[in-house]
Amino acid sequence: MAPRDLAASPAPRRPGAGNARDVVEAYGHYCRPGLVPLLSAIGLDAVYERAQGDTVWMREDGLLVPVLDLVGGYGANLFGHHHPDLVAAARRCFDEQVPFQAQASIRAGAARLAEALCRRLGDYVVTLTNSGTESVEAAIKHALLERPRPTLWAVRGAFHGKTLGSIQFTWSYREPFRGRGPHVRFLDPHDPGDWKAAAADVDSVSAILLEPVAGEGGIRRLPAAFVEWVMATCRNAGVPVIVDEIQSGMGRTGTFLAAEGLGLDPDYLCLSKSLGGGIAKIGALLVRRERFVKEFSLRHTSTFAEDDYACAIALEALRLVDRDDLPARCRARGDFLLAGLRAVQARFPDQVEDVRGFGLMVGFELRDHLDARSYSLRMLSRQGYLGYVAAAYLLKVHRVRVAPTLGDPRTLRLEPSAYVSEEALGRFIRGVEQLCALLRAEDVAAIAGPAAGLVADAPPALSVTPRPDAQEPPRTPRRVGFIGHLLLDEHVTLVDPSYRAFGREGLERYLDRTAPIVDPMVFDRIHVRSLTGEEVHLSFVGLDITSRQFARARDVKNSRWITEKIEKGVQVAREAQCSVVGFGGYTSIVTANCRRVRTNGVTLTTGNALTVGMGVAALREAARLRGIDPAASRLAVVGAAGNIASTYAVLMAPEVREVILVVRSLRSQKIPPIVAAVEAAAPGRAVRVVDDLDALAECPLIVSASNTPEPFIYPRHLGRGPVVICDISLPADVSDDVARERPDVLVVTGGVVRLPLDLEFSIGGIPLPRGHVFACMAETLLMGLEGTWKATSVGPVTVESVRHAMAMAEKHGFTVGDVGINSSASRLMGLGYAQHRRSRAG
Ligand code: PLP
Repeated sequence: MAPRDLAASPAPRRPGAGNARDVVEAYGHYCRPGLVPLLSAIGLDAVYERAQGDTVWMREDGLLVPVLDLVGGYGANLFGHHHPDLVAAARRCFDEQVPFQAQASIRAGAARLAEALCRRLGDYVVTLTNSGTESVEAAIKHALLERPRPTLWAVRGAFHGKTLGSIQFTWSYREPFRGRGPHVRFLDPHDPGDWKAAAADVDSVSAILLEPVAGEGGIRRLPAAFVEWVMATCRNAGVPVIVDEIQSGMGRTGTFLAAEGLGLDPDYLCLSKSLGGGIAKIGALLVRRERFVKEFSLRHTSTFAEDDYACAIALEALRLVDRDDLPARCRARGDFLLAGLRAVQARFPDQVEDVRGFGLMVGFELRDHLDARSYSLRMLSRQGYLGYVAAAYLLKVHRVRVAPTLGDPRTLRLEPSAYVSEEALGRFIRGVEQLCALLRAEDVAAIAGPAAGLVADAPPALSVTPRPDAQEPPRTPRRVGFIGHLLLDEHVTLVDPSYRAFGREGLERYLDRTAPIVDPMVFDRIHVRSLTGEEVHLSFVGLDITSRQFARARDVKNSRWITEKIEKGVQVAREAQCSVVGFGGYTSIVTANCRRVRTNGVTLTTGNALTVGMGVAALREAARLRGIDPAASRLAVVGAAGNIASTYAVLMAPEVREVILVVRSLRSQKIPPIVAAVEAAAPGRAVRVVDDLDALAECPLIVSASNTPEPFIYPRHLGRGPVVICDISLPADVSDDVARERPDVLVVTGGVVRLPLDLEFSIGGIPLPRGHVFACMAETLLMGLEGTWKATSVGPVTVESVRHAMAMAEKHGFTVGDVGINSSASRLMGLGYAQHRRSRAG
């Protein structure tokens, strides 16, 4: 009898269950701070309040929404949630007041369950436990008692649990705990050379631990040749073969044990998960009677093990396996599911890598998108998020719950109950078919948007076609990295046009969800040539953080997560063997000009020296274009108490008639040495210090470098034109009104450099015309070309470092870009000039 399918019936409302968001926060705060942000960013932070059969109900906008559950407790839900006969068995325990705890007595439930298991499986001694990992722990301990040797064997990609002993056998999670438990040698089941080499040491091996079908490892069955070798070698040497059927057992793969079809004959057997019928926590270690070491009966015990409640449910579960012939059901439904998914694969061979399965243990593997045109698909694929985003899409759009595995993040693992209906599986098959169509269209907004509450109605009309990254393998030892970030939220649409469907606000919301979880990674890898004929190889490390997010983090004094991402970015560049790493845009600011970054073995640069130098060059060029003679003009330097502005003042002073330093407070202690430095640079030149902006009216040349968040230079502050302003602040100091209302004023940002030879150079997401780079990146390239760099580029800019950077630029043929270039670049990319100007890149 199948449990009643309640998917269509209305779910009762539970008291106090309407505040799902509070629960998410509380769970993240009190229980899983390292997991919930990831679930939330991806859209898998559902709160399930009810479960029956293959349906779970999640709370959404105050309503309970039915969802088809194909995760199935990672194999524990073979009977469906709350199977009525299992619930009845549980109820009987309470009604009959069966003791829950009666240690050191004769446990009737344990005896009955163990007997039932042995009737089915052979003559074993059964040690009952509370979980899968405990069954594995017990197996390891018994093996060490039975055959005390230094090494145990396991299989690459295996999963056996996460307690300290079992995690040593768990391939993808063991790293920080490696060597802190039993010594494990992992065998590659596909490489006979590897196992044969291992065989030389078989006498030092205590036991081998195997999953017949790796679940966490992506639904992969052990190769028959390997199994044959294991059985022959281990039997010969007396090494016990421990078979972990915690996930695959109880009929899920079409036979009671998956080992049956493989010729794998267990000396020890681990069970758990669906042994408890999905409602009791129980596991079991079965050891062949002739191998059992009697003292083990005291060497492995646990307060809750052997409880009559769990044993009664497990007994009922075993009865149901036979009564409803669950192995046959799993075979039939599994065949249906596999056939449907293989049909999807046939229609989308470009999207589906593999469909594999044994009964109702099925894997649906997506292809990677490492080289997609869409930046986001590349990023999701490279960072292992593709399967999770697919799972969130299926949940939000098709109301189906699936999950990938860490060990195999592109494979969706499907383990419904043996009672699942064909209709329900058909719904999932249609869902993945639509997923594949969206992946083929690279419509990431339609896939990832719904999880963020964003609906991208129609696929966008692509006016800009993104391209894959340039991927030139380095042909020179001169290698530099550059850490860039999104200057504006909209820039992400340059590399992923599908995001346009979100609109401005939606995009902000979307980027706010994803920024904390996306790690920096190398996008373009590209050579740049100097006029001297030398080459440098650049690895562009992209951070998915926008200027807006940097500014907000600074305002709320929460930049630590950003600094950590930057440190990871440096690490990524170092792994790409870069000796110099440049910091773009806000990354220098948030790290106090690189000083807050923990690193060793690479030289860092803010790129500020060349940015200032090129700013001076741009101001000169702008003055020439507007017919302003600097020698006859006053120069105002706004924010002159700061490092960058004062450096401008010192550099420009010799070329102008008078310098006006505009500062916030005339009493600042920083001012006298700055005035002295300006006077020393240009003896005899008039230098005035003022604290109001009215002085700007007298100045045709203005440099502005403040750290004020809002614009403060308006048309009314400026004298009659021509006037040129070099505004290098972020956000801009000059109001957009100036560009709109004052054609006699030319505002330049400087900071853009033209490369000498690589006229086609471009990096996705950076809104500059081909052949141009921001000065901070140019400085990084120059440092790479030079190999060493005399003046320091970390910390404050100095006049010497600016001069040195400009001399190197000249040597290698790097020149200032057109002074109007930022505006033309912005137009080219369909962005407003004013928006772009609010984000200086270093
Ligand atoms: N072994 C296998 C094959 C498993 O799949 C699992 C859990 O997924 C375990 C062991 C660990 O079981 P538990 O999570 O109950 O500790």
